[in-house]
Formats: sequence, C-alpha cells, structure tokens
Amino acid sequence: MILTIETTHRPATDLGYLLHKNPTRLQSFKQSFGEAHVFYPEASEEHCTVALLLDVDPVALVRGSAARSDTGPLAQYVNDRPYVGSSFLSVAIADVFGTAMAGRSKERPELASTTIPLAARVAVVACRGGEPFLRRLFEPLGYRVTVHEHPLHGDDELPSRYFTLELAGEKRLGELLTHLYVLIPVLDDQKHYWVGADEVEKLLRHGEGWLSEHPEREAIASRYLRHRRSLVDDAIARLTHEEAPTEEAAIERDAEEEVLERPLSLNQQRLATVLAALRASGAKRILDLGCGEGQLLSLLLDDPRFEEIVGMDVSYRSLEVASRRLHLDRLPPKKRERIRLIHGSVVYRDARLTGFDAAAVVEVIEHLDPPRLSAFERATFEFARPSSVVITTPNAEYNARWPSLPAGRFRHRDHRFEWTRAEFERWSRDVAERFGYSVRFTPVGNEDPEVGAPTQLAVFSRHEIHG
Ligand code: SAH
Repeated sequence: MILTIETTHRPATDLGYLLHKNPTRLQSFKQSFGEAHVFYPEASEEHCTVALLLDVDPVALVRGSAARSDTGPLAQYVNDRPYVGSSFLSVAIADVFGTAMAGRSKERPELASTTIPLAARVAVVACRGGEPFLRRLFEPLGYRVTVHEHPLHGDDELPSRYFTLELAGEKRLGELLTHLYVLIPVLDDQKHYWVGADEVEKLLRHGEGWLSEHPEREAIASRYLRHRRSLVDDAIARLTHEEAPTEEAAIERDAEEEVLERPLSLNQQRLATVLAALRASGAKRILDLGCGEGQLLSLLLDDPRFEEIVGMDVSYRSLEVASRRLHLDRLPPKKRERIRLIHGSVVYRDARLTGFDAAAVVEVIEHLDPPRLSAFERATFEFARPSSVVITTPNAEYNARWPSLPAGRFRHRDHRFEWTRAEFERWSRDVAERFGYSVRFTPVGNEDPEVGAPTQLAVFSRHEIHG
C-alpha cells in the first residue's frame, strides 16, 4: 500500500523541508500494524515525489488485536488490509507527517501556509460507493480527481471496490494531508480501531475550515464515526451550527449569556429553584438531562438525600469539563458512587434513563430544533417516565428588559427558539395531558409586572395509577 505526493513547485525539493524528511534518505517508522517507510523516488529542482509505503503485517495485526474481525478467525489473517489504503494510512500520515499535516514547518514556515501544485496518488483504496463517491468526496474540495478501477478477476459481474485514486490541485500541503487523513478511512468504511467520543473531537478538529461546508459532511461523519448514532449526531449538530462553533466559542457564548444575566444572578436563582423543586418532590434518584458543565450536579451531590445522580449531555466536551469541575477522580468512594456522567441525547429513547424519580432539564429545550421536540417529549415523558420532571426555559417576553440585548435577538446564539409565557404554558399543558402528568409553573428571577420573570419553570408530576 503506497501513497505518493508530488509537486512541481520550484525548487521542488522544498517538499523535503515541508515534510521534515530528507529527500536523500530512506526512513522507516515502526507502527502498531507493521512499518511505514518514507523515500523519494524522484527529487529534482523541477519535480519532487515522496512515497509513504506501508508494510502491513497481518500477523502483527492479529497479535496486537489491532484488527477487529466480524467475519471469523480466518478473515483475521486473510484480508485485504495489507494492500489497500485504509485507516492504517491515516495513522501513518499522522505519525510520520504530523507536523506537516498541522501546517507547520521549521525551515519553510511560509511555504507551509502557501498553496503549491500538489498531486497525490493512493494505490490502492477500497471504496464503498465506488467512483461516484470518490468524486463526491474530493471534487468539492477543489481537486481534479482521476480514478482507475481494478476489476476483480473471475468476478466481472460485480463492480470492483478497489481503485487507484489520483488527486491534483493547488493546495497547502497540510490541507492535502488532512483531507487524506480524514477521508481515506471514510472510503473504506471500516476502521481498525474502536471509535470513542474523542473521535468526534478529532473529526471536528481536522475538519475545521472545510467539513462543515462539505456537501457530503453527513456521510463523512457517519462513516468516520462508524455509524455510532450518538457520536454522529453530536458531530453533525456541531458541524451544522450556524458558525460551526468550536467548543471554546461555545464556552465563550455561555459566558456571554452569564454576563447578560449577571445583574440578577439569574443562574443561581434558577439552580436554587430547581433544587428546591427536586427536594420537594421527594426524589432520591435524579436525572440531569443536558447537564452541561455540571453546576446542578454539584449542588445535588452536596445533598446526601439524592442517592443516585446521573448527568447526561450530548456534548462530550461538556461532560469532560463537568467531570473535572466535580473532581470525580478525587471524590471519596461513597460520594463517587452516587454520581455518573453519561453521553447521550435527550431526543432518543435510552434504557439508561428509566427507573428514576425525577428529571431536571434546565435551559436545554430551547437548544433543540423544534421538529425534534416531540422526540424529546416521548423519550422523556413516555419512555424514561420519571415521577417528576422539572423544565426551565427563557421567557422571551423578558428579553425586552435586558439592557444589553438587541431587540429580536435570542439570549444565546445556539437557542433555536425562545417562548413567551403563553407558548411555554400551552406546550407544557399539552405534554402533561398527553402523557398523564399534571403541571404547575413557577417564575424564576425578578418578576416584572408586564413581561413576567426572566426564566420560566414548570414542574410536571406523573399521575399515580390507582387500582
Ligand atoms: N443544564 C445546564 C446546561 C444548559 S446549556 C445548566 O443549566 O447549566 C444546554 C445544554 O444542553 C448544553 O450542555 C448542551 O450540550 C445540551 N444539549 C443540547 N442538545 C442536547 C441534546 N439533544 N441532548 C442532550 N443534551 C443536549
């Protein structure tokens, strides 16, 4: 399996500086799956080509259990992995050309951020979806794409999955390497390692500046994340945000919202009111759905009456922050046992959420796209079905009273809607009616005679079934 990259930039041998690999030497790098070799078949002023050759050892794969096989013991040894571009190639690119991929060069920093004529050739890639899919992936990124199909002998009826792929364009080297790094495992649609939530961060980091605009972004995210639904949803939600915000930007925005609300210390009043409602319900086992960075969790943890506390959020980064803020790694064992953080979405039925006394959903529903609201309703009120549900959301009428909020703007850029009191009450009563709950409302924060309080809160109580 071999990747070559060539340039006609003058002097072409600058490619060696960009890659931090000397054109006159052959270098080898040990990998978990075998070995990666870097050499230059050609290095002149006019034309320079670097080759990354992967020597994949199928036996090492099995020994290191780097390969997972769904197809039985023999397939572990006899498979196409050694011969085709796959996620091994990505691993090797990151390992051997990591600095160049990040766009850095010690000797040629300017060249690293300049577009130069580049051509890459991967022999061979396995691609589900064939030539059309290869084109749909690379052409929107501005590459001229050439595809050679390798027919399978004796199986002429079937379209081949194997191709030699050539890409050409004026690109920064880091860009080209990043595109290959992300998209090659996507072609093949299998990854040799288990994907966890940190893969979402990796995908978003490497996809920065191109993935959110890519017409195939959903297919890319699905395949990259091995079709793991909660991860794919997380990635797509974050890719399709208006400005594809980075997590830092999101945190900044939360800070913005806090600043806006600080004169009332509304956040603290809200948490105190939610906590009081949970205590009053007599609940011992609590869900905090959309727990964010864990402010409510921290209050719950300090009250021993809450015996089991589960915080769930769709953002893995928020859960990491929550885990740090709550010092989960240093809690005394008895306290530690009372709390768990789980990654998930409030719009899906989730067996982990059944059997609780109460759920808090604090400043979350306004982050859901209106069409997904009914999925949230069913997942929470029909499936998880705790005895009490406490929901808070902004009161849109109050926005007129924020001195620093321009008219017509939401309090937070990620809000999909903000409801008036009448709208929230109508929705809540309808939900209560449909799922067999009663509901009452409490204003939170300084109440204005005309527009009400800044936050609205509803407590839903499940009707007990008699007889
Ligand atoms: N409840 C917290 C955080 C509110 S911010 C608090 O009051 O401080 C909204 C939170 O909802 C964010 O952490 C966001 O990641 C989360 N969220 C948005 N959509 C979600 C979904 N579909 N499922 C679970 N959490 C979601």
